[in-house]
Amino acid sequence: MRLGTRWFCCLLLTFSFSASAQEIRIQVDLSDAPRNIYHAQLTFPVHPGDIELVFPKWIPGNHRPSGPIAALTGLRMEAGGHAIAWQRDPVDMYEFHVNVPSGADKLDVSLDALTGQDSAGGGGPAASSNLLDLNWNAVVLYPKGARSDDVTFVASVTLPPAWKFATALPVEWQGRYEVRFAPVSLTTLIDSPVIAGVHFRRIELTKGETPTHVMDMVADAEADLAMSEKDIAAYRKLVAETGALFGARHYRHYDFLYTLSDQVGGHGLEHHESNDSVAAERTLLDPDLDMLHASLVPHEFVHSWNGKYRRPAGLATPNYQEPMIGDLLWVYEGLTDYLGGVLATRSGLLTDEQYRESLAETAAELDHTTGRTWRPLEDTARSVQILRMLNTREWENWRRSLDYYPEGDLIWLEVDSILRQQTHGERSLNDFCRRFEGGESGPPKVVPYTFDDVVRALNDVAPYDWATLLNERVNATSTHAPLGGIERGGWKLVYNGKPNLFTQALEKLAKFSDFSYSLGFTVGEDGKLHDVIVGSAAYQAGMGPGMKVVAVNRRRWTPAVLHAAIKSAQGSTEPIELLAEDREFFKTYSVAYHDGEKNPHLERVSTQPDILGDILKPLTH
Ligand SMILES: [Zn+2]
Repeated sequence: MRLGTRWFCCLLLTFSFSASAQEIRIQVDLSDAPRNIYHAQLTFPVHPGDIELVFPKWIPGNHRPSGPIAALTGLRMEAGGHAIAWQRDPVDMYEFHVNVPSGADKLDVSLDALTGQDSAGGGGPAASSNLLDLNWNAVVLYPKGARSDDVTFVASVTLPPAWKFATALPVEWQGRYEVRFAPVSLTTLIDSPVIAGVHFRRIELTKGETPTHVMDMVADAEADLAMSEKDIAAYRKLVAETGALFGARHYRHYDFLYTLSDQVGGHGLEHHESNDSVAAERTLLDPDLDMLHASLVPHEFVHSWNGKYRRPAGLATPNYQEPMIGDLLWVYEGLTDYLGGVLATRSGLLTDEQYRESLAETAAELDHTTGRTWRPLEDTARSVQILRMLNTREWENWRRSLDYYPEGDLIWLEVDSILRQQTHGERSLNDFCRRFEGGESGPPKVVPYTFDDVVRALNDVAPYDWATLLNERVNATSTHAPLGGIERGGWKLVYNGKPNLFTQALEKLAKFSDFSYSLGFTVGEDGKLHDVIVGSAAYQAGMGPGMKVVAVNRRRWTPAVLHAAIKSAQGSTEPIELLAEDREFFKTYSVAYHDGEKNPHLERVSTQPDILGDILKPLTH
């Protein structure tokens, strides 16, 4: 019965919505943003009969069915001045059935989006008392079955008094609090978030040039907007470096939408003509935070080429109800992650040493990811839909996480090093980027690709058995991380007692201690073990994530006491005794570890050329 009804509805769909050229109007009242509720009013041109409206489910950039349907509330529909009943589809929670009464030519829909929780796939609220982030997918409905390119929206917003805004959307009219945007496709609307806030700063990065690049910042306090001249110069250089790397731009203008807040979701989301990035409130004021976030904006910017313009075929879907296939995320995210770090360094947001420390930490973590013995990298990409369901680090080294990001750094460094070695420094991944992601400059468009297209493009730069190499890296299980790029690059991964710059900064900010490469665990300041590495000394002693370290060698636990115990165990045969609380029970674990502190670093191999150093050199002067 359901199937029959569905077919019937699909047929009617063509007749019940007016010609697709007609615009859908959406007005979003953001004046309640500090309470994390957005009010939307939509008007659809319709004909009488049964219609189906859908709420976006598969969100670009999230690569998964993360559309915040549970947060959609206050849904009311009206036609010809009368309230009309709607019904949610019993199977698809994102679909609504409505019967438009005879005589009606438009359908008014009002709805609220509750934005206090994850609204952009980033895990946190969309707004605070001082700022907001509007992702249109949280407030729109559209005709079922329509291609997002074919549906036109005329959008407007009402802002809280005295708040300023930024977006890549073209503004058509602006009143005191209201802003109306030029008509755009649903694709462009969802690809163009709006940020707004009391504390706002705009910096023109490429004044007088076409296309323009603007840094738009909102923050919870005015002082947070104090981007240094050095950082501004680095972001200007970032724009120049991407021009030199890709040789073309796939946008008409570009907005770096940058939110500095501890109150809203800590996400970075890429778009064709903007990126919507959130960093800690004091990022521009604190050198450690500045270093930890240095690659965020370059990463999201690279996505305009790699991810938005060139997109894996499985992620290039016609609308937001069509499921996505994430198999090639090690290109979409992995290559972007590699280029993000490299460009941050070429632009001066990171020093070469900071880049190497970050890479050493990434390599060490992946080399201790025991889940690689059962789960190939591609499975972490295909499983993107479920990997974010577990919001914990417990057994993460055995389970694997979104490893297609960091392992992409290692794989693409290896590809870059091989290209440079094969061509005696004549060619590199820069050439691949120019050929694969460059093309002709112009407005946003999507050019899908497959695994074979990637292999073909690499072979065009330098012939090599790329298919075998990439298949092995992506589809095979392994005991160790792919460190070939570091080694070909003229460096090696070593461990010693000197703290790693990145880990040290992260430990301070996230309030945890990293003993991963010595005892085999990370531990919060309350003594709770976040993860225990399978096969490590702590694991062999019987310890597991969630247990709480109470005492070290019969003395109350602190990170300093544990560091001292590791040091004294180095010259003895006595195990380190850890008293741990496991909910209501206590037990002492004897950890037989005598190899001292181990922190990852890259060490230069002087007999080989410094290819990694060459990779990090800017292309512009
Ligand atoms: Zn990304």
